Amino acid sequence: MQTVLVTGGAGFIGSHMCDRLIRDKFRVICMDNLVTGKKENIRHLLGNKNFVYMEHDVTKPICVEEKLDHVLHLASLASPVDYRRHPIKTIKVGTLGTHNAVGLAKSNGAKFLFASTSEVYGDPEVNPQPESYWGNVNPVGIRSCYDESKRCSEALTMAYQRVHGMDTKIVRIFNTYGPRMRVNDGRVVPVFITQALDGRPLTVFGDGKQTRSFCYIDDLIEGMRRFMDTKYDHPVNLGNPSERTVLELADLVLDLTKSESKKVFKPLPEDDPKRRCPDISLANRLLKWKPKTSLRDGLAATIEYFRDPLRKS
Ligand code: NAD
Ligand code: UDP
Repeated sequence: MQTVLVTGGAGFIGSHMCDRLIRDKFRVICMDNLVTGKKENIRHLLGNKNFVYMEHDVTKPICVEEKLDHVLHLASLASPVDYRRHPIKTIKVGTLGTHNAVGLAKSNGAKFLFASTSEVYGDPEVNPQPESYWGNVNPVGIRSCYDESKRCSEALTMAYQRVHGMDTKIVRIFNTYGPRMRVNDGRVVPVFITQALDGRPLTVFGDGKQTRSFCYIDDLIEGMRRFMDTKYDHPVNLGNPSERTVLELADLVLDLTKSESKKVFKPLPEDDPKRRCPDISLANRLLKWKPKTSLRDGLAATIEYFRDPLRKS
């Protein structure tokens, strides 16, 4: 049985990854400091003999007494609202945290997978974005704490691969949504769904014509899981290539929730990317992967999750 450390394992993506790894018969050590994660997301795994939860801040030295075969480094502030509120924590987890996580993988001779982001492309001048695009990032803007620390983590990952011959992987995740996102997460999908369910206006930023491409969590997890088993050592985009405007998303949420809510327009946050869409031809070739879940079906499943009154606390 192989042992995997999942940092950020009590978060949205991390907890789904823990579920998948347990299902695939790995021993899973889930590490989180709960800054944005929730114990609730992994409570159902706590009784499993192959699952261990460790509350720990990965920016501090990491000590795990078991031999590790894989380190999946997902810990990070991830929502623009969260990282604007905690810019220093965000930079620390994407620099010191990554250094600690990759160092731990090295000392165990373990494979290292880093959860990067489409934000490394910034406000892209190329659409869709292939992995070969170097990006258009404002290094001193309000999103730079996230974008630049993710870019630094990618550079660190590649340096450890080149200097120490480590088996490393970088996955560039595009906007992913689904059950277990937090109600007050600030990202557009949970925001619109909770506003629609509560009968409050949907807050569309700017004119709503900016685009995103929304990937359902199950599709992302399948892609990441396949990537773990490859020898490929350069970044791979994972996301859904169906590009939508924010206005289209708002209308779809209103339709699916049958909500009477109106849309209100609010100022566009600084440096909000105008377009974002993954070129997934590499993932398609390498992993024989493409997303299967339509936005309508994925949103319907996510809406069901948020209908539970317990999610509001
Ligand atoms: P999330 O906020 O739900 O999960 C992140 C987890 O990391 C949380 O549980 C949080 O408590 C934990 N964490 C943060 N700092 C930590 C620290 N110093 N020590 C230990 N744990 C810490 O967000 P998510 O959407 O699940 O994101 C997971 C990863 O995927 C992040 O690295 C994020 O940057 C990346 N990502 C997500 C998306 C997306 O659309 N969801 C897109 C691109 C990249
Ligand atoms: N957005 C919006 N209203 C909200 C929250 C977000 O219109 O209440 C927009 C935001 O300006 C961006 C898009 O939705 O253009 C996606 O935002 P999110 O915070 O989910 O993630 P991002 O892709 O910007 O990292």
